[in-house]
Amino acid sequence: FRQPRQPKSRIMADDSQTVILAISSGKGGVGKSTVTANLAAALRALGYKVGVLDADIYGFSIPGMLGIEGRKPVAFNKAIVPIPAHGMQVMSMGFFVEADTPLIWRGPMLMGAVEQFLADVLWDDLDFFLIDLPPGTGDVPLSIMQKLPRAQIVVVTTPQPASVTVAQRTGIMARKVQHEVLGVIENMSYLVCSKCGQRHEIFGRGGGRELAEKLGTRLLGQLPIQEELREAADAGKPVALFAPDSQVARAFLELAGRIA
Ligand code: ADP
Repeated sequence: FRQPRQPKSRIMADDSQTVILAISSGKGGVGKSTVTANLAAALRALGYKVGVLDADIYGFSIPGMLGIEGRKPVAFNKAIVPIPAHGMQVMSMGFFVEADTPLIWRGPMLMGAVEQFLADVLWDDLDFFLIDLPPGTGDVPLSIMQKLPRAQIVVVTTPQPASVTVAQRTGIMARKVQHEVLGVIENMSYLVCSKCGQRHEIFGRGGGRELAEKLGTRLLGQLPIQEELREAADAGKPVALFAPDSQVARAFLELAGRIA
């Protein structure tokens, strides 16, 4: 990766109309990437122009969730052309490394790549630009947050106290670097049994609302645990576009409507 001279993309410009949503979480495994991919698809289903930057550099999973694993971006006019996926534009470190090779880059190299993804990718004039941040409050997520102008942070947590506590730290970090915390998304809030119809709160109750209160922001939505969501993610077919009648797709579409 070379350092860009002139930004090729206008989404980072101060007067750009693109809404930048940075999706964060306190730890891995709470569904941050699943939420990013499916929220992006839900915004797309509502007719918006959407771009997705997978900045979860060590744990990239967006290409798989959007069905574009293994694609290789091409350069045009010294800029990188994003990969199209279901009407969206996508960029990920996953396109540049082999799937089974560990990424052993250190922070500054990673930041060089992320900066290039922000400035040197031919993003269209997007309505929404979603960034899947690395989890936690380490150097890399902090540096990425600092590079983003006018980003609104969305914090993903499960209802479980262990997830809420670490997610709160991410929200506080975002504030410290002057970003607005748009709200909290509670994932894996409940499971409706497909046989008996009973609702089970496997990870407890109320964590998302509690986190929103602690961060002085709002609870944007609660997403159920649903097998279809996991299956759709594994198949690269986001639910809002491929199974819009499922319970979880409706939850994503409502969430997108609330954000848009
Ligand atoms: P993170 O990005 O926070 O590490 P992922 O988005 O990779 O987490 O999700 C972890 C796993 O949980 C994935 O296998 C994903 O398919 C699954 N998953 C996430 N949210 C849900 C949900 N609401 N229902 C069912 N499976 C989910």
